[in-house]
Amino acid sequence: MVNHPPLHVVAFGRPGSGKSSLAERLGEAHGFAMVRTGVLLRDAVRQGDALGRQVEALLAAGRLVPDDLAYEVLARDLSALRHNRLLFDGFPRTLGQVPLMARLEQAVGFEIERYVEIAVSPDEALARMGGRRVCPTCAATYHLRKSPPKAEGVCDRDGTPLVGRADDAPEVLGVRQAVYDEHTGPVVEHYRRTAPDRFVAIDGEQPFEEVSRDLERALGLS
Ligand code: AMP
Repeated sequence: MVNHPPLHVVAFGRPGSGKSSLAERLGEAHGFAMVRTGVLLRDAVRQGDALGRQVEALLAAGRLVPDDLAYEVLARDLSALRHNRLLFDGFPRTLGQVPLMARLEQAVGFEIERYVEIAVSPDEALARMGGRRVCPTCAATYHLRKSPPKAEGVCDRDGTPLVGRADDAPEVLGVRQAVYDEHTGPVVEHYRRTAPDRFVAIDGEQPFEEVSRDLERALGLS
């Protein structure tokens, strides 16, 4: 097992920015443990546990779950965060979650070294949405045009038939953009302002390979 130097990253990007596909690629290539609140929350819904029952309708509507529940889904398995390379995809997502991230850093004993924004205009993001497919078994993300699976309709890793997401329904896509602008945009601005030496924005409108390369460079990984 390679012993990587510590690197803890938070990735931001509006729905349709390609953030999750980029994060996945980076995670696989550079040994990051992925921390994806969206995946953890959807798992809770699938399992039908108490948390899952509370958040199911909000997820399907493309609305954010309350800050304390977003924190709880992370904090209930702190051991998953004891890793010298973590990549947060989907947390913190509101200004109210900024101090909760600080609490998590304290509780686990790590520090975020980089905040990365995958910057894409709202129009481009909307145009890109809709082609996403996910693997219900391992949560791998594909895009029919940009990053299709090798064999049509099935996951490269485990052969599971790919599915769309409830919150990718056309009527929900606009809601998710608006939620990003209202709640997550201010978080990005917060870190851009308060942690300028740890913050980097990447042009997400370039071809996937170039964005991926810029991301690696920004993190000192290439
Ligand atoms: P994602 O897979 O990151 O797009 O997240 C899917 C959904 O999970 C979001 O639309 C929200 O309903 C919920 N969610 C994920 N992360 C958070 C968070 N940090 N705070 C509140 N809701 C979240």
